[in-house]
Amino acid sequence: MSTYSIVWFRNDLRVHDHKPLTRAVTAGHPVIALYIFDPYDYSDLSYGFIKTGPHRAQFIQESLEDLRRNLAELGVPLLIRYKDPKDAFLEMSCDFTIDGVYLHEEIASEEQQTEGRVRKALPGVPFYVDHGHNLFPPEDLPFSTWDVPDTFSQFRKRIEKNGGTPPKAIAPPQAAVKAELPNKIEEGKIPDAAALGMEIERKKPRYHGGSTAAKQRLRDYIFTKDRLRVYKETRNGMLLEDDSSKFSPYLANGNLSPRVVYEQIQHYEKNYTKNKSTYMLYFELLWRDYFHLVHRKYGGRLFYRTGLNGLEIPWKTNQEHLQAWMDGRTGYPLVDAAMRELKQTGFMSNRARQNVASFFTKNLGLDWRIGAAWFESQLVDYDVSSNYGNWLYIAGVGNDAVSFRAFNVEKQAQDYDPDGDYLRYWLPELRELPVPWIFKPGEMGMIEQEQYGVQLGEDYPFPIVDLYESMREMKKAFEEASK
Ligand SMILES: Cc1cc2nc3c(=O)[nH]c(=O)nc-3n(C[C@H](O)[C@H](O)[C@H](O)COP(=O)(O)OP(=O)(O)OC[C@H]3O[C@@H](n4cnc5c(N)ncnc54)[C@H](O)[C@@H]3O)c2cc1C
Repeated sequence: MSTYSIVWFRNDLRVHDHKPLTRAVTAGHPVIALYIFDPYDYSDLSYGFIKTGPHRAQFIQESLEDLRRNLAELGVPLLIRYKDPKDAFLEMSCDFTIDGVYLHEEIASEEQQTEGRVRKALPGVPFYVDHGHNLFPPEDLPFSTWDVPDTFSQFRKRIEKNGGTPPKAIAPPQAAVKAELPNKIEEGKIPDAAALGMEIERKKPRYHGGSTAAKQRLRDYIFTKDRLRVYKETRNGMLLEDDSSKFSPYLANGNLSPRVVYEQIQHYEKNYTKNKSTYMLYFELLWRDYFHLVHRKYGGRLFYRTGLNGLEIPWKTNQEHLQAWMDGRTGYPLVDAAMRELKQTGFMSNRARQNVASFFTKNLGLDWRIGAAWFESQLVDYDVSSNYGNWLYIAGVGNDAVSFRAFNVEKQAQDYDPDGDYLRYWLPELRELPVPWIFKPGEMGMIEQEQYGVQLGEDYPFPIVDLYESMREMKKAFEEASK
């Protein structure tokens, strides 16, 4: 039987800055790349919606098409399987000898359990695991996992005091001798949405998956459009493509290494401008690293109802409110616009995410884990640590130094969308409303409703809760729980 090295791709769909791939290519045996669609990832979560929704599913498919092309140039075939990963590996081990499995480390328990079952099925096969999702590998940090600071600001200061420079990204490996597949082995088709059990048409995506698209976006945003220069001023915008970098789908699915982003920021600073904006993008990448480290430190507690601080908040159950939030029909335009954007595109700006998560937990008082699970299902840039870490933080059960923090969604809309353009874009029924009614349609009387052609309760819902009353109630619940 022939012998092969396997590179197991998961959330690292690229060939640059990919240590496992480079190691496998230099190990000497022909290399086969493998990506497994685990049916579990396409099943319903306990809250009744699918774990990987159509937007991310499509992004992953596109990323794999691109990865297959890029690997082919290196002489490495990409096998695609749709089954339990343990069975996929077992099947392969019957067809050829596996010299070793090369992969990036995943810190989430589900991925670790799956990996554990694969290892058990392949006794004697060595696994070579590298760290590769962050700017800083754990061994380069000035503290151990257990001592990761409990606030971001302490973390950032420690990193910067230590130099603040991540290791260099590594280039793609040199082309290897083309690996010929054993006779009966097929590469396998990349399944489309229908094969994954989803009824969607392949539509023009807002973000096209793959490393090639990622590099194009990196070049466009920083150099061609010169947007890094003003990132600090524009990053809170919610409507426009270039308000923020939109690197997140590429970082989350591993199309782009954060170290490559870091190096391009450095390049821009050296050759063009170094200012508060260039620093701010690095600062945001540090937030990403931070949430990954919090996950590493707290493990499964990231998913506890009581969060990291053990607060027993009496979260409510209300199916109608949950549905209204998911559908963007709460009667609060900022929440509704953002939730419809999420459902239709799989993306939402950071400002909008903070607001809808705050509304979910501090106004509706619903269990934060359900909101986080809906994001997990819908987001094209879903990243387990960033998603659950941010949700914990906004819900007030994570590592936020402030005891009760809530966003006033009406005021936030006025501050960050002063002309109401974002609201009108996603809420066609409110398009005729001028400022200030666009921010508070629920307060319109009969005359305004007639004037602007919006009948409350028919065309657009009345607010489902009182903004201030509901916030007061939740504040009280937090005070009680903290006693
Ligand atoms: C409730 C909630 C859930 C979130 N879920 C996710 C998620 O699943 N995946 C995800 O990548 N981000 C998540 N974020 C963080 C943030 O909203 C997105 O990273 C950002 O909106 C992506 O847009 P961008 O790439 O244009 O960001 P930019 O502003 O251009 O930032 C550059 C990069 O920095 C990182 N970053 C920025 N802010 C954060 C942050 N608060 N936490 C972690 N990383 C950050 C991202 O990788 C981002 O691509 C969440 C935030 C909130 C409030």
